[in-house]
Amino acid sequence: MHSNQLTKNISFEFFPPQTTEHLDKLLETAQKLNSRSPAFFSVTYGAGGSTQERSLNTIQGLLTAKLTEVAPHISCIGSTKEKISELLAHYKSQGIRRLVALRGDLPSGLGTNTGHFRHAQELVAFIRENSQDHFHIEVAAYPECHPEASSMQVDLKHFKEKVTAGADSAITQYFYNVEAYEQFLNNCLKLNINIPIIPGIMPITNYTQLARFSDNCGAEIPRWIRKHLEDYGDNLDAIKDFGIEVITKLCEKLVTLGAPGLHFYTLNKADSSLAVLANLNLI
Ligand code: FAD
Repeated sequence: MHSNQLTKNISFEFFPPQTTEHLDKLLETAQKLNSRSPAFFSVTYGAGGSTQERSLNTIQGLLTAKLTEVAPHISCIGSTKEKISELLAHYKSQGIRRLVALRGDLPSGLGTNTGHFRHAQELVAFIRENSQDHFHIEVAAYPECHPEASSMQVDLKHFKEKVTAGADSAITQYFYNVEAYEQFLNNCLKLNINIPIIPGIMPITNYTQLARFSDNCGAEIPRWIRKHLEDYGDNLDAIKDFGIEVITKLCEKLVTLGAPGLHFYTLNKADSSLAVLANLNLI
């Protein structure tokens, strides 16, 4: 893919901040990132509606700031058809045209009450039934396999079900093994899955946090990256510089492979994503 084309398909993900002060900070971060003309900003949504109020406030803040398109995430586990219908109506009234549809992971307090939806595929089908083609629907993809899936093949079959149910494109879980993404794309082609599959990019800025995320979501941190990060210890500047170098190389390989875009998990910070984009000459 030519880099000019890719520039149009950069997107940035935020999580809903805890306080209004942090929301103000996030809006400053969004302003900085917006100067790179992203396709959209997405905002995560805690499973079981655990962040609903904060997610809605964050989305409202971004809409009021009139930056780029805003794409709310919706996670369905623990929710009901009525609640999801209300959310969809609310987003429509705000002029939203894109959603990231997910299952979510049930928060421990909710026990086994999964609500009306067990898998993201059911949410995608419900959104299509409720709103036809109003929303562009993004779903999650797992080049290194979802941690609960019994095999790669089974996981891929379930991914295809989300596409058949009406997903328009996908964003991957983050990964540092570019071969996993390449293989995933090849396997998708074999199954006639033809939607754009955009790699999710996790900047490296904090080893402890990254290791915790990776343990939970099954994204492998290659040994050589772990070893470097262990060496840097508390030297955050060294970690950040190393992270920018590693992520720049990863993105270069992805662009060469023909990735249809790049979705940055910003963790509500602008610096690392902007540095990587600058290195890629996409600014
Ligand atoms: P699914 O597609 O439902 O898959 C989950 C598991 O169920 C997989 O193992 C799959 O193989 C299996 N499965 C699917 N269909 C079936 C079936 N019919 N029968 C049996 N098994 C099946 N979480 C949040 O809570 N909020 C967010 O905002 C959020 N944003 C995310 C954004 C991205 C880009 C990504 C990659 C993840 C995000 N997550 C978020 C995390 C996500 O909710 C978890 O990874 C969750 O464990 C799976 O969600 P899913 O939508 O991929 O689920």
